[in-house]
Amino acid sequence: MEWNGYDKNTLGLCYTLRCPLTCEFCCYECNPHRNEKMSIDLAKKLIKEASQSEQFSLIAFTGGEVLLFIEEIKILGNIAKEYNMPFTITTSGYWAKDFSTTLKILKDFKSLGLKTLNVSYDPSHAKFVNKNNIFNIVKAGEEINLHIQVAGIYFSLEDNTEKFLPELIDYKYTDLITSYVKNVGRASKLDLPINKYEPIENCFCYSRDHYDLLVWYDGTVYPCCSTFNTSIPNLILGNAYNMKLSELLLKAEGTLLFKTLKRQGFSKLYDILEERNYNLFKKLPNPNRIIDPCSLCSEIFKNCELSKDIKKEFEKYETNEIDSLLSSMVALIGEEKTKSFIISCTNKKEVHK
Ligand code: SF4
Ligand code: SF4
Repeated sequence: MEWNGYDKNTLGLCYTLRCPLTCEFCCYECNPHRNEKMSIDLAKKLIKEASQSEQFSLIAFTGGEVLLFIEEIKILGNIAKEYNMPFTITTSGYWAKDFSTTLKILKDFKSLGLKTLNVSYDPSHAKFVNKNNIFNIVKAGEEINLHIQVAGIYFSLEDNTEKFLPELIDYKYTDLITSYVKNVGRASKLDLPINKYEPIENCFCYSRDHYDLLVWYDGTVYPCCSTFNTSIPNLILGNAYNMKLSELLLKAEGTLLFKTLKRQGFSKLYDILEERNYNLFKKLPNPNRIIDPCSLCSEIFKNCELSKDIKKEFEKYETNEIDSLLSSMVALIGEEKTKSFIISCTNKKEVHK
């Protein structure tokens, strides 16, 4: 089976907030007048660092519309190729007005290591971009065996991308993705109907194993690519200008709170707090009125005081868990062997640094 480039962590680069479109639900409130953009030097440094750390297997260029800076993305694609690092690009396809230009652009990017082109398209994007652009992209993808994902965001559960773009259902290299508008970014000003509530048992971070570190144009690093990430400043791991990617990853991976949300889910967070700190538990949002995991995450962690108290409680919980694990080990293999085991783990960690 061909390696798909997704077996380790992903480094997302939010390269720009400028976009020729102004979609009504844009999570980052992008528009043609925004000037925020990552410096190409920071992007170069991060791609090299990600490749050399061996902890990442994919770079994801996202925005805004990154292909407004197509020449810079080609330079960065060349660097990724040099380091044998595949990448994805997310775009609205505004540039794909004729087939031969589209084919040439995609061929060039594929030769540099483009794995997937993620195209955002739905009725809101269609106010700005002609459907033919999307057909040009999909047909070009078919011609050069390039994976295309056409992702649509809808207001009603009745709608989906298959219904909106039935012409694309049978293309071999194209997948159609559907999601629904979330109450974040520009959409937070809309009066969104609540379609359904999610049981808390179903609420986990979207990726259970790996991290998608998202570096914002100014170097700020978030632990996920959720549309809610930038609305939750309490999730920030640090800044890529003054921290290494491996340190930032360790901050995410080494935090029991993040691990719990990823692997055991929000119901475990509720259980732990109910057992350890009932007053804090009572401050959590109603578990029967959860729209989706990231909305819940935002509701909990954008509240600075609640977020601080939960982190403090989890630090205590982590210490207790480590103490009880060590006591069990001592009981099982004795104090000396436990000490040598810890020393060998610490040495391994030093070697990996
Ligand atoms: S195309 Fe994407 S980045 Fe641009 S305004 Fe629409 S949702 Fe935002
Ligand atoms: S639940 Fe929170 S940390 Fe997890 S993906 Fe959603 S916003 Fe990110």
